[in-house]
Amino acid sequence: MEQAVENRNAGGAVNPEKTVFLMAEDNPVDAELFIGMLEHTYQDKYEITCVDCFEKIMPFLSKERVDALILDMHLPDKSGTDNISSIVRKYPSLPIVVLTGQEDMEVAVDSLKNGAQDYLSKNNINPEILARSLRYAQERKQIEMQLKEALNDAAYRNYQLESLAKYDMLTQLPNRAYFNDIARHVLRRANRTKKKCALLYFDLDGFKKINDTYGHAFGDELLKQVTKRLSGVVRESDFLARIGGDEFVVITDLLESKEEMYPVIKRIVKAFEKTLLINGYEIFSSPSIGIAYYPDAKDLDQLIKHADCAMYEAKNKFESQVCFYTNQMAAHFSRTQEIEENITVGIENKEFDVWFQPVISAESTERISVEALLRWDSTKLGRVGPDEFIPVAELTPAINQLTHLVIQHCGLFFHSMKNKQTKIDRMAVNISALQLSNANFGNILLAWFKESALPPENMCVEITESQIVQNAKICAEQISALRDAGVHIALDDFGTGFSSITHLLDLPIDILKLDRMLIDHIDSDSRNQALTAGIVEMAHRLNMTVVAEGIERQEEQNYVLELGCDYLQGYRFSKPLPLGEVSSFYLNK
Ligand code: C2E
Ligand code: CA
Ligand code: CA
Repeated sequence: MEQAVENRNAGGAVNPEKTVFLMAEDNPVDAELFIGMLEHTYQDKYEITCVDCFEKIMPFLSKERVDALILDMHLPDKSGTDNISSIVRKYPSLPIVVLTGQEDMEVAVDSLKNGAQDYLSKNNINPEILARSLRYAQERKQIEMQLKEALNDAAYRNYQLESLAKYDMLTQLPNRAYFNDIARHVLRRANRTKKKCALLYFDLDGFKKINDTYGHAFGDELLKQVTKRLSGVVRESDFLARIGGDEFVVITDLLESKEEMYPVIKRIVKAFEKTLLINGYEIFSSPSIGIAYYPDAKDLDQLIKHADCAMYEAKNKFESQVCFYTNQMAAHFSRTQEIEENITVGIENKEFDVWFQPVISAESTERISVEALLRWDSTKLGRVGPDEFIPVAELTPAINQLTHLVIQHCGLFFHSMKNKQTKIDRMAVNISALQLSNANFGNILLAWFKESALPPENMCVEITESQIVQNAKICAEQISALRDAGVHIALDDFGTGFSSITHLLDLPIDILKLDRMLIDHIDSDSRNQALTAGIVEMAHRLNMTVVAEGIERQEEQNYVLELGCDYLQGYRFSKPLPLGEVSSFYLNK
């Protein structure tokens, strides 16, 4: 066919009285033949447009009304039954009659499965057969559409509405509303039968970070995989639901005793021991689990509150992923909330200050080294120690504002000393877990140093191992970037808790700070002596500088000097001091 699109009997705009056909046929002889047959039946009551390739079908359908499509199965640019499904997907109400060669019976049957209404063999066709087939196709399509509509209206719609109301679309788990219904029912039964039930409330550690780093589609996939794992470990009689972003709950069936829950909890924890594979990334995602019991809690609201509170506790304790609700938690929970509410106001009102604790070089009194430590004198809450407010601030963006403040104060101190002909060797700032797992944190920190005119090589960031463990890959990248820029990296509180030598070998750490628990009465504690001696020797072999923290007594000082510690820090030399006093400490020496 010469023309790309040939229109017969069109006479301008499509006439609503006439039946409109579109024919996709690349063989001009066949096309002429079929048009002749149509003319025979429809006379002037039809219009037909011919196209000679598949590519031209969709653009035409998008512009014109078409009552039926006559489709050759073998078009030069695309052939086969896939053609049909792609048209049906886009134009579900279009009747289609397929034309095939004699040898193509299999394809013909397939074409019906894919959404065509009828097929005709080119070798066995006449005007009557063609007309009947077209009419049949149109009628069949019409019935099909009516049926679909009827179904849509009634059962299908109901089904969809019901699942929307009850299930979470992403994971297909019951949603919060459905969970509330079921949980109330379980509590009523527990009440009637004088039995117990448990509520497990959990979320995924670092989920927000993963979402921010890898994107929401990645986060969604993670949630789906987590759901799969969870569904595999809870008992059939327990009810698992997703009630928020990364928050899941399980309400158990009636329990005779609280201990009945232990194997279930164990299975959940175990389910997260293996990494998840998402888009080719191995992701480690562990839950923090809070557990509360009915009738310890008097109703569902309280049960949820208790379990949530226990989960919060589990989150803040690195060593335990699982926490059972206790009455003491309530007090702690409200204190935490109080602190959280007041931190932002505190920053605005300039209630925070930065103090400096001298770190003494064993070799030379000339070397000035300090650790910057936050102080908060809140108008609302009074003095709050960093051990109390830092863990709260760490979970909010306030921690970044606080670190920024610390660095600005370092700048003030650094430059105040420079003017007095002394030079600061090293200033240490403490960094929190969540900060390090932000893939841009290294750059932010370096920009803050620059803003305060602090040379990176005079700065040191103190991190703890528990932080690194939680998000190893990103942390390692940030640490390396900072070290490359000349910043010193100190591993804080080493020797207790999670100390692992692997990190010393894997990360560019150049300073090791011995935890003050190790130093406490080291002169008489033979276990700590052996441990500390070993750590110091290993650190020196790895070319690291060792700082002993928390030295309060002369005997402790003597002992760590003997072990070869390079720097000493503790109340024996000085407590942390406000900016003006720490300058005097060094200048009046
Ligand atoms: P840390 O990093 O281990 O800081 C040392 C803590 O030990 C300081 O407590 C210091 O006052 C205390 N200390 C120093 N020498 C002695 C001693 O001889 N005996 C005793 N008993 N204690 C001594 P502080 O200032 O209360 O800070 C507590 C923790 O709060 C710090 O522990 C650190 O983890 C955190 N922190 C403080 N400032 C910041 C900050 O700006 N950012 C972050 N992320 N954490 C901070
Ligand atoms: Ca520190
Ligand atoms: Ca420390």
